[in-house]
Amino acid sequence: MSGILYVVGTPIGNLSDLSPRAVDTLRAVDFIAAEDTRVTLKLLNHFEIKKPMVSYHEHNLRERGSAIISRILAGETAAVVSDAGMPCISDPGEDLVRLAAEAGVPTVVIPGPSAAVSALCLSGLSTSRFSFEGFLSTNRHNRLEHLNTLLHDTHTLIFYEAPHKLLTTLHDLRDAFGNRRISLCRELTKIHEEVIRTDLDGAIELFSEKTPKGEFVLIVEGASPEVPKETTLDEAVSRAKELMEAGLKQTDAAKQAAAETGFKKSEIYAALLAD
Ligand code: SAM
Repeated sequence: MSGILYVVGTPIGNLSDLSPRAVDTLRAVDFIAAEDTRVTLKLLNHFEIKKPMVSYHEHNLRERGSAIISRILAGETAAVVSDAGMPCISDPGEDLVRLAAEAGVPTVVIPGPSAAVSALCLSGLSTSRFSFEGFLSTNRHNRLEHLNTLLHDTHTLIFYEAPHKLLTTLHDLRDAFGNRRISLCRELTKIHEEVIRTDLDGAIELFSEKTPKGEFVLIVEGASPEVPKETTLDEAVSRAKELMEAGLKQTDAAKQAAAETGFKKSEIYAALLAD
């Protein structure tokens, strides 16, 4: 009988954020697939968990993934963890879950913190609709192309960024979006946790003078919803003329143009007569 694949969230800084259920699961499984076994060993040592591990990262996920699934199909249970936060979110795991699903292996999530959602909650920006964009490409062309697809997106945007690329990214965001509001969430759950709520110009000014340090999530305000353009009386009359050319009587055309534009039928009709 097949075992189970557990997808286990781990802390993004503060070890107390490892849930009791995650501890129980890591203790109970037969083996752990870890992004970096040295990083996970520190976590396991802290909780006095002794468990065999296999490394599972972006460079070996193809062959290692099938080997892990074969072991689970043969009856073992496994947990997949990344260095920090939820596996599968800008971290290995997605591929393994897909392989598990294809092989009919049961999957169970043990939820933990994710930097993206934690930062969004502290951002002070709209949380009702958001779009997770992960890391922007290091290739400038691809990065700008990515940003171009977001120009009219009204959702709050979430980006991960490394400190040494932060200033370049802030400039690219400013060039693409104009001066939008941004919250820079740094070192969440750690001693130097900080949220800088400013705008892109303010952020650029700040980090032009001060070297960014630590881990950052950038929460960027979405585009302002486009306000529908108000129709003028001239445009309403032109619409009525179009409808007349299409075969409607003058009075019916005025009525329909009024319904479409919000002007009174009498206003449009009078303008048509005066024309
Ligand atoms: N899987 C992780 C998750 O669920 O959040 C994300 C892993 S991704 C490789 C690492 C990025 O997440 C960092 O570069 C940073 O942008 C963000 N991050 C991780 N921990 C963070 C923290 N404590 N504070 C702020 N950002 C963090």
